[in-house]
Amino acid sequence: MTQPLRILLIDDNRSDRVLIIRELQREFEHLDIQEIVSAREFDQAIASNAFDVVITDFQLRWTTGLGILETVKHHCPHCPVVMFTNTGTEEIAVEAMKLGLDDYIIKQPNRYIRVTASVRVALERRDARRRLALLEIRLEGLLNKIKLGVFRADATGSVLEANPAFLELLGLESLEQANQLKAIDTPTYYEQLTRLPPPQQQEQEVQLQRQDGTRFWALLTTTLTPINGITVMDGLLEDISDRKQTQESLQQLNTVLEARVQERTAQLEAANQDLEEFTYSVSHDLRAPLRAIQGFAQLLLQDVGDSLDPDNLGYLQRISANAQQIDTLITDLLTYSQLKFIEIELEPVDLSVVLTTVLAQLRPEIQAQQAQIQVDESLPIVQANRRILIQVLTNLLSNAIKFVAPGVQPQVRVWAEQRQDQMRLWIEDNGIGIAADRQQQIFNPFTRLHSEEEYPGTGIGLAIARKGIERIGGQIGVDSQLGQGSRFWIALL
Ligand code: ADP
Repeated sequence: MTQPLRILLIDDNRSDRVLIIRELQREFEHLDIQEIVSAREFDQAIASNAFDVVITDFQLRWTTGLGILETVKHHCPHCPVVMFTNTGTEEIAVEAMKLGLDDYIIKQPNRYIRVTASVRVALERRDARRRLALLEIRLEGLLNKIKLGVFRADATGSVLEANPAFLELLGLESLEQANQLKAIDTPTYYEQLTRLPPPQQQEQEVQLQRQDGTRFWALLTTTLTPINGITVMDGLLEDISDRKQTQESLQQLNTVLEARVQERTAQLEAANQDLEEFTYSVSHDLRAPLRAIQGFAQLLLQDVGDSLDPDNLGYLQRISANAQQIDTLITDLLTYSQLKFIEIELEPVDLSVVLTTVLAQLRPEIQAQQAQIQVDESLPIVQANRRILIQVLTNLLSNAIKFVAPGVQPQVRVWAEQRQDQMRLWIEDNGIGIAADRQQQIFNPFTRLHSEEEYPGTGIGLAIARKGIERIGGQIGVDSQLGQGSRFWIALL
């Protein structure tokens, strides 16, 4: 059940009291009305302080309505008081209103109903006031506690209000000091806002100085707000020195790291360059002694080969074969490292002519393997480099012939395809195929998926092909499935 509404009804006239009570009972469900007709009863009621509203007449035998009003407001400032009288004057009404009277109603027969309406309005107003007061207390508590500076300034830049955090941030003791020392350039910020379109708000990082001279970074959020006909600037001030410091350290660290990476890259490039030059010169220098070994082994084979016993003949043949293998490896290595340094000029190259040259070079292998090579007749002319294309296609075609299962006749098809602004040349074989997870690796130097006994080679052919194609601005790749043949492609503009 809700609490009854407790009313002090102060009127010497019994009939008036009865009429008022009747009206009140019509309007409010639960009522607790205390009728007061003497000073003693009034004092007791005030002392017990158990009422929510006071309804009083002005003219009383033992005091006046003003006296009642003063006493009630003194003891309980928020308690609504309604005066219902037929003896008051306008002056009395004004004075009573000044003292905090909620309503003043002239007693007339049809006015009793107004008393109840007046009580209701007064109670609502009291509740609203209470809520507002509570809100204010909470807001003030919050503003005092938070670490965020909150302030309000007028158009002249004068700071009208500020919370403790604002003063603390700027190392100030009072609002007066803030205005005297012009701790924050409010006129400029105000002026900036006037030039902005609605909602006239801005956020900026500013460097401010505390009263002791130390500087700090703050995030300043300002907005223009019209209040009671004037426009003020409300502002929030947040110390972001730590964040700024972290940002700066990060930036410095990044710069240092970048410099280090550049330094290391340069060192690495220099080391690579040295290594390549070294590889080139070693490969080059190995050639002469190797040729001597090959030459003398050949001589021995020719001159005394017939007289050697099978074991010794075998040894000599192996020396010769190994020397041949090293020679091929050195040739490949030299080609690979040269590709990096040689000047390459792009020129129109007829792919049909290139293919004819390549096939002529590979004739011995083609014949040995009885390979069938089918080249499309209408191969285009491309912007490339003839020497490089010959090298690349030789490597791709010799692989296509080489990597077939034992006893299978190699069948290779070469054709070109125009794709948007790219030309693709395809070399398709019926060989052993390449597993998907190895298709990228095989373009790296020395990656071989089979032993020398199964398929001879150096593992550099595709690396040469990739580097060559890259140097003429193209791409190379493969589509393949294990056991299903392969389709190598080169793409050129
Ligand atoms: P090499 O031919 O000297 O072994 P490559 O660099 O030309 O070296 O090729 C690398 C590896 O890629 C080969 O050892 C082989 O395992 C695989 N490969 C290249 N071409 C083909 C092909 N057409 N079919 C199947 N495997 C291939």
